[in-house]
Amino acid sequence: MKLNLIQEAADLQDKTVIVRVDYNVPLKEQDGQMVVRNDKRIQDSVKTINFLRENNCRIILISHLGRPGGEAKPELSLAPVAKHLTEKLNLATKFSPDVVSDKNKSLIEELRPGEILLLENLRFKPGEKKNNPQLAEQLASYADIYVNEAFSTSHRAHASMVGISKHIPAYAGFHVQQEVNQLSKLLEEPETPFVMVIGGAKISDKVEAVKNLDQVASLVLVGGGVANNFLKAGGLETHKSYLEDKPADEKKEGVDYVKVAGELIEENKTEKILKDGYIPLPKILYPIDVKAAENPESDVAEIINLSTGMEDTPEDKDMMYLDLGPRTIRLYQEMILQARTIFWNGPMGVFENDEFAEGTEAIARAIAKSGAKTILGGGDTIAAIKKFELEDRYDYVSSAGGASLDFLAGKELPGLKVLTITE
Ligand code: ADP
Ligand code: MG
Repeated sequence: MKLNLIQEAADLQDKTVIVRVDYNVPLKEQDGQMVVRNDKRIQDSVKTINFLRENNCRIILISHLGRPGGEAKPELSLAPVAKHLTEKLNLATKFSPDVVSDKNKSLIEELRPGEILLLENLRFKPGEKKNNPQLAEQLASYADIYVNEAFSTSHRAHASMVGISKHIPAYAGFHVQQEVNQLSKLLEEPETPFVMVIGGAKISDKVEAVKNLDQVASLVLVGGGVANNFLKAGGLETHKSYLEDKPADEKKEGVDYVKVAGELIEENKTEKILKDGYIPLPKILYPIDVKAAENPESDVAEIINLSTGMEDTPEDKDMMYLDLGPRTIRLYQEMILQARTIFWNGPMGVFENDEFAEGTEAIARAIAKSGAKTILGGGDTIAAIKKFELEDRYDYVSSAGGASLDFLAGKELPGLKVLTITE
């Protein structure tokens, strides 16, 4: 994929540039005001903003925040983000309380070279998610050039991601380029053994990426709620464990994910041998033991062994599998320590409860220690590594969840397609 890059744009000097960023950041209340709780996504855009300032551009920033459902919701205003840019990042930023309005036009005309204006939450307008042509045209009318610096929204065909690019030249910002480069490298020629670690709640979000990465991965380690589909497919009992049966995305409804897991197990039965050549294994591994309890809030847990042929275990019938067991942790650690490349998405258990955080923490530490090239992504995965204070220990942490998985699944992302050079 060859992207139109902002640093290669001819004639940037003194232009007005509208930049679609992803400032969908967590907010919290502090002394009666909303403030930014974590600014990683804002930091991701700073390089592009500074580049445009060096070129004397006038900068208009546009973003969504949360799910206001097409109407103005004061608690989802981007005003605290303008304040954060100004006060914490030293990038003086004006704020407009409108997404589109005549007043915006005059605010933009008043901008001097290098000045920044952030517009209100795009999703206050129903047209944003519908890729409404009028909204796209109005936004485009504010600027000479469009930049996409919102990789994590690039799997969405929204007005500010797709429609807008029909009217003015469209470029990829530096962070989008970085995300694409890092993820492309994983798909092309990762140093082997390449170990993929997949967990989290919903298999429907991940299975396409697993299927595609599986082509290049040496080994796939499965944990979290996703593992339950594999256990079930492998003929094991999962009792009351969380097992996704109704995907959030209605397009995926009706798919039997236990069957999907079963097909993956079947296709990957061939024995693979890791670097040191001493352990023959199927390519997809799932837990041989789990930590289980009657509910995710429980502080009473037990270890259930899954490797012995599955006898009926009536005493476990009310159990949910909520974390990896100790033998699985040791097995996965050993595999991870042999890897040269690791991609990780999805916690290994309900890490929000300390009782079930051990698997996720052990895997997070093993990945950090592995010496492999390590790439990870996903909102909850990032929350987990923050909880364990490991966030600086990986080569690349992608801010994107859905977009990075779609990219790794080999899907065409609509927001990137419009930045692609067709030769
Ligand atoms: P990410 O945001 O990193 O892509 P997901 O959103 O897919 O990850 O999944 C994160 C959620 O999965 C966490 O809230 C965690 O509690 C939940 N989870 C992990 N393991 C299990 C399990 N065994 N049963 C139920 N939920 C689980
Ligand atoms: Mg998540």
